[in-house]
Amino acid sequence: MDLFEYQARDVFEKHGVPVLRGIVATTPAEARAAAEQLGGGTVVVKAQVKTGGRGKAGGVKLAHSPEEAETHASAILGMDIKGHTVHRVMIAEGAKIAEEYYFSVLLDRSNRSYLAMASVEGGMEIEELAVERPEALARVAVDPVVGIDAAKAAEIVAQAGFAPEVADEVAAVIEKLWTVYKEEDATLVEVNPLVRTEGGAIVALDGKVTLDENAGFRHADHAELEDKAAADPLEAKAKAAGLNYVKLDGEVGIIGNGAGLVMSTLDVVAYAGEQHGVRPANFLDIGGGADANIMASGLDVILGDPQVKSVFVNVFGGITACDQVASGIVQALDILGDKESKPLVVRLDGNNVVEGRRILNEANHPLVTLVDTMDEAAAKAAELAAAK
Ligand code: GDP
Ligand code: MN
Repeated sequence: MDLFEYQARDVFEKHGVPVLRGIVATTPAEARAAAEQLGGGTVVVKAQVKTGGRGKAGGVKLAHSPEEAETHASAILGMDIKGHTVHRVMIAEGAKIAEEYYFSVLLDRSNRSYLAMASVEGGMEIEELAVERPEALARVAVDPVVGIDAAKAAEIVAQAGFAPEVADEVAAVIEKLWTVYKEEDATLVEVNPLVRTEGGAIVALDGKVTLDENAGFRHADHAELEDKAAADPLEAKAKAAGLNYVKLDGEVGIIGNGAGLVMSTLDVVAYAGEQHGVRPANFLDIGGGADANIMASGLDVILGDPQVKSVFVNVFGGITACDQVASGIVQALDILGDKESKPLVVRLDGNNVVEGRRILNEANHPLVTLVDTMDEAAAKAAELAAAK
């Protein structure tokens, strides 16, 4: 989960990273009040969108008075930055910048470790710096067991070539940013720019933080950082029902039990769909206990997607046997009643498959087609979706 800048600022503050005061506003009037609250002097009006390059896009503007903050906020609110609509701005205390630096620490999957990056040439987009002047970007591997201690922070600072006057203080801030990374279970903590002010203070002016949702159970406070308004409504509905659902851009809805089976189902449907011009509409793993209620809520989510034209139910009976799944499908169709009007292709295999198929055949539901193999079922589901 990516955080907004203002949320990253709050998290930084919580862990003692030096930041400037910031107040969120959703209207120009609120922006003016926030600027007054910050003392009425110079502030920065910053678009809160989860994408970089806001500055270049006109989403970061200095204001020298509360009136000017209001004017800038009315220009920035509603602006589109790389496809993200600005719904909030942060009114931040203005800084007199002497120098702009860059620092980040992130999960380095290919090396099974963490990677810290730092540069004395911050401010610009780091992708550009990495391409145009790679030598200006220090890359230092971080042992996950040791983390960034004083020695590692000193190594990062030395490799990036920070001037002796700021080296110690920058190293101290880097150690604090590591605390954020570790304590909050982040996969990315990036500060661009980390600045030296004219007064000589080192301050994190812009923060980007990605939290590891798999560690959410350790952080009760992370749930409220989620941007519920931006979540896909079907994904939100599935999440509320405890389902493992990812919306995709296609016409064939997919339900299966087990992540591996569902992944391969996506592959065979994508393959079978090619000649019909249709694609998988979603990933949905209903897990081991494929009972009627789970099946019903799964179908309900998938059928709520207006793009879906057919549904492929692909179940391999294990601990939950095929007869239970078959009864589950029949009951689910009952529960959904008239809402259900899209064809279902069902492929059952595994534990107690004969009884499972018998139940479905006997139910003889007009929308259900029972197919024996996965490839044939995928072809049938694609054909039905294309015919609609
Ligand atoms: P980004 O473009 O989305 O990365 O947004 P940033 O928050 O990094 O802001 C872009 C640029 O605006 C920074 O690199 C600074 O040069 C400038 N900026 C941001 N905050 C301040 C501030 O408080 N004072 C001044 N003078 N410039 C600022
Ligand atoms: Mn930035």
